[in-house]
Amino acid sequence: MTPEAAIETVAAKPLATQQKGEGAIPKCALMFHGISEPRTREEAAYSIAPRRFHGLMRWFRTMGYNTLKVADWLSDSIPAKRVLLTFDDGCDDLSTELLPIVVEHHYTPIVFLVADLIGGTNLWDQAKGLRARQLLTLEQIREMQRYGMEFGSHSATHPLLTKLSDNQLRSEVADSKHRLEDLLGVEVLSFAYPYGAVDERVRVAVAEAGYQLAFTAEPGTNLENDPLLQRRAEVNDATGVTDFLFKLRYGQGVRVTLGAFRRRLGGQS
Ligand SMILES: [Zn+2]
Repeated sequence: MTPEAAIETVAAKPLATQQKGEGAIPKCALMFHGISEPRTREEAAYSIAPRRFHGLMRWFRTMGYNTLKVADWLSDSIPAKRVLLTFDDGCDDLSTELLPIVVEHHYTPIVFLVADLIGGTNLWDQAKGLRARQLLTLEQIREMQRYGMEFGSHSATHPLLTKLSDNQLRSEVADSKHRLEDLLGVEVLSFAYPYGAVDERVRVAVAEAGYQLAFTAEPGTNLENDPLLQRRAEVNDATGVTDFLFKLRYGQGVRVTLGAFRRRLGGQS
């Protein structure tokens, strides 16, 4: 089945989750990491080869999609085919692979930065045996900012927040916000949980720090769910075109979307 035909099949009967909130359009966010050729299978989960990334972004344009800003997301009045593109960790390949298409197409992606490691490397990955990768410098970040890109916090050092003491948690969440605000000169409204790990205590810390929006790594769309538990569909080197187009529209890949669709049809008969 071609990507367009697969989309049409599902689009003919929207999923139950998309019928909630009369007329409201569910919001979709995609989650990327770095844009570089993965060298191992493990790396493929946290990066996407430049060729694959640019190929998917051509589909993004061809299918009539455009990007959202955080302010649009918070406003709740979103036109169809507007998606928030998010990039976790702030790898420095974003300045060579993402910034040129931001400049050309006026996209407004958001990058979640590890506040204490700006200009450094991915120490949290290296601790697990993954290779060192350069992170964006402040100069690169400021250049991206000039072209309309936005930045959020991805904590101070990228720990598993659910395992921290209350003091450490507060410092990772609140201090990273203040540090980024000092460096960037703008209010930092959004947060992405490292590893997608969040529980009620972490969520409360994020709320108390003053964030208005926080993203997990749970797939799906966002309609009436908690602003501090927003879902995102992951795109990495294993994501094909059909899955990508389903994630843009339904917040999850083709297999999960069609499975839910079939279950719904089964439930109706
Ligand atoms: Zn991360």
